[in-house]
Amino acid sequence: MIHNSSPAIVVIGCGVIGLSSALSLQELLRDDPSKSSWQVVIVSKEWPTSIPGAPIPHSIEYSSMWAGAHVRPIPPTTTQLRQEGLWLKQTVSKFNSLLKAETQIGLTLAPAIEVFEAPGDEYKAQTAESFEADSGLKGYRELTAKELPNGTTFGFEYESYCINSPIYCGDLLRKFIIAGGKTINATLRSVDEASIITPNVQFLVNTSGIGFNDSKVFPIRGHIVLTNSTCFDKTITRQNLDGTWNFIIPRFFSGGTVIGGTKEPHDWRRDPDSATCRRLLTGVEELKQYALSSGSLGQPENISVIQEIVGRRPAREGGLRLEIEFPSNTYSAESKLPVIHAYGAGGRGFEISWGVASSVSKLAKGLMVKLDQTKGRLAKL
Ligand SMILES: Cc1cc2nc3c(=O)[nH]c(=O)nc-3n(C[C@H](O)[C@H](O)[C@H](O)COP(=O)(O)OP(=O)(O)OC[C@H]3O[C@@H](n4cnc5c(N)ncnc54)[C@H](O)[C@@H]3O)c2cc1C
Repeated sequence: MIHNSSPAIVVIGCGVIGLSSALSLQELLRDDPSKSSWQVVIVSKEWPTSIPGAPIPHSIEYSSMWAGAHVRPIPPTTTQLRQEGLWLKQTVSKFNSLLKAETQIGLTLAPAIEVFEAPGDEYKAQTAESFEADSGLKGYRELTAKELPNGTTFGFEYESYCINSPIYCGDLLRKFIIAGGKTINATLRSVDEASIITPNVQFLVNTSGIGFNDSKVFPIRGHIVLTNSTCFDKTITRQNLDGTWNFIIPRFFSGGTVIGGTKEPHDWRRDPDSATCRRLLTGVEELKQYALSSGSLGQPENISVIQEIVGRRPAREGGLRLEIEFPSNTYSAESKLPVIHAYGAGGRGFEISWGVASSVSKLAKGLMVKLDQTKGRLAKL
């Protein structure tokens, strides 16, 4: 039986990382009979209630509402990319099992195509075997020269996931609440404030996206256009020679199609600009012609814009911060309670979400053993 004074784990943030972590923590508590009285509480200033096109209650910092989103593996050539690749593979495996159990959760298994004007060697080195081994995704096939859109020199296809991010996050929140999770609507000024937001807090999980005063965190501005199009059955990504991108991500479940997009590190501009919007819509016309000629487009249609969107990807130098911080007397400690930090997912929060959540859960398991030992020692004094 859970009371208001039951021991609590407080998760700060209700984006895709916070929600996946909170659900994993509930599972951890369910598996441990000695923790049956514990509860998980999410405290957040924003919640997944968005219907794009309706009046928008979300800030551009609430990244999870603005994500396309699709799973697009990046060849694991650095330490950070290798770690993210492991999380991605765990997420793909979880998406597979989620979709087997339920089909209406905002996830769709769909074909993905990537094409390049000037591909890096790391992309050209991929094979069907290495791609599946690295990502867990099936169906990799290099495109023939005839299949490539004008101006591109290399491309491949595979089976991937498209995520209608507001629907998907809403579904995770509903699952969390049904499983006994508690929610508190609050804007915190510090991590520490979360330790007294509800009675008997044992430790904190900081999934606030951008963290609190972390100088390594920076935004990657994403300018995208949400359109009413419903004719695309696949996600298509084009990387251009000048470093720009064009992509199409269908938001299945009546969410239209996301036309993207920009990736602008350290760019703090909040508003969409019409020149970028025009460039994106022109780029998509070419991809549309390509999709049409490859026979994968439904009824051709006039695309109209529902909303021009700017969202910020919460990036961090060196990648996502995943570690436990223990309280100390030093000025820099962020809380008087232990904190598991899991923020700074950058542009990959959805595709690495369940891997990160599993790492959070492992850290939490170790932490609970430590807390039990400390309490045991104190009881003997
Ligand atoms: C245009 C665009 C396209 C993208 N496309 C993709 C894609 O295709 N695939 C993909 O995997 N990812 C994509 N991303 C990236 C993805 O959206 C992010 O990586 C992910 O949403 C980060 O999730 P998060 O939970 O860490 O942070 P967020 O979603 O930002 O959530 C942070 C949470 O913390 C809360 N919070 C923050 N500060 C406080 C405070 N002081 N007090 C209380 N609560 C607080 C917020 O209210 C929010 O609930 C895209 C992002 C953008 C902008």
